Amino acid sequence: MAFDLLKDDDLATCVHCGLCLDACPTFRATGLETESPRGRIQLMTEWKRGTLPFTEDQARHIDLCLGCRTCEAVCPSGVPYGRIIEAGRAEVEHIRQPSSKRWLARTALRQLVGHPHRLRVFGSMTRAAQAVGLTKIARSGRQLPQLEAQFRAPHSGIAPAIGARRYRVAFLVGCVMPILYPRSHAAAVRLLQLAGCEVWFPQGERCCGALLAHNGDLEGAARLRDANMQIYGRGQFDALIVDSAGCGSHLKDFYPELTGRVKDLTEWLAEVGLPPAEHEVKVRVTYQDACHLAHAQRIRKQPRDLIRALPGIELVEMRHPEICCGAAGLYSTLEPAMSTTILREKTDDVLSTRADLVVTANPGCQMQLSTGIRSRGSNMGVEHIAELLVRAY
Ligand code: SF4
Ligand code: SF4
Repeated sequence: MAFDLLKDDDLATCVHCGLCLDACPTFRATGLETESPRGRIQLMTEWKRGTLPFTEDQARHIDLCLGCRTCEAVCPSGVPYGRIIEAGRAEVEHIRQPSSKRWLARTALRQLVGHPHRLRVFGSMTRAAQAVGLTKIARSGRQLPQLEAQFRAPHSGIAPAIGARRYRVAFLVGCVMPILYPRSHAAAVRLLQLAGCEVWFPQGERCCGALLAHNGDLEGAARLRDANMQIYGRGQFDALIVDSAGCGSHLKDFYPELTGRVKDLTEWLAEVGLPPAEHEVKVRVTYQDACHLAHAQRIRKQPRDLIRALPGIELVEMRHPEICCGAAGLYSTLEPAMSTTILREKTDDVLSTRADLVVTANPGCQMQLSTGIRSRGSNMGVEHIAELLVRAY
């Protein structure tokens, strides 16, 4: 048990100042040092030094971390918390006897999410089951949206620029987005076309591996990265555009060959510009920062600037848009109690804005926010930011 994946240099950057504590959703929910970034770093440091034996009880503190990286964004000492928790989680998963729930999650991620064709078949079956009401019987935990026709890239593999072509971009279709939120992808692609981008859909591309890495399966994530790099190597592109914050953050950290070319949709649109709006968008909207966009990628200004540029829009901020909603990949399924506690606070905050619509930039957040809002009987809309922006055209 050498905990080799945890790096001494990374762990040593924590100076125990505690400035991250109030920003951490699990500390806010429990008030416990063991559920804080500082406590978790201390635990992993002691495991690594051998001054504390590994126990399943202690490992629960690692399980309960959302991996939201809010702590990383506020840490004055530059602790690379995302890297630390990913390594810590991989070590924990290596040592422990997995529970049946965790074993099932890992198998599903490797065998289903990692294979887009299988996932699409599963999505079609789920949609058929929804149509005859079967999923209402089987439903538990977070609610899947009502599935629509899946997003499909054009046969040619290219969506042309609208007007003069200024850029050629690759687009990450990904694993769950084309099944759960096809409209978000369709809106994102249209915005790119309007911005003068020819959009290339790399054929044979797999899941980026974010969900696997987030759950401690770094080996599985590395296999997907290697397969994807072969595909990306076959095309030329100015940027690889990602409209899911978790995937974008993973690609930026885990695909060094693509350094500088991975761009979140909002980051890219803010950089290259959209044509003038054609319609007013008279909506009162609030924006939820997806953790992996705001904290991991430090992108908070660009989405807000794009929203504010819409004629007729009213953007109202909630009190804590930067605090996690409790979705965090599979967290809401694996840790439903903590996830629900965190979602309760988030839902209060969202509803207090009295907005017509809440937008975000990550599918997990969309699903989680919908669950929270519906549970209060509110009919506030939940959309991907691309769906809001495209209303102007
Ligand atoms: S993680 Fe950063 S903010 Fe938190 S205690 Fe350590 S040094 Fe301080
Ligand atoms: S990643 Fe999020 S949940 Fe985990 S310690 Fe940091 S702030 Fe807390």
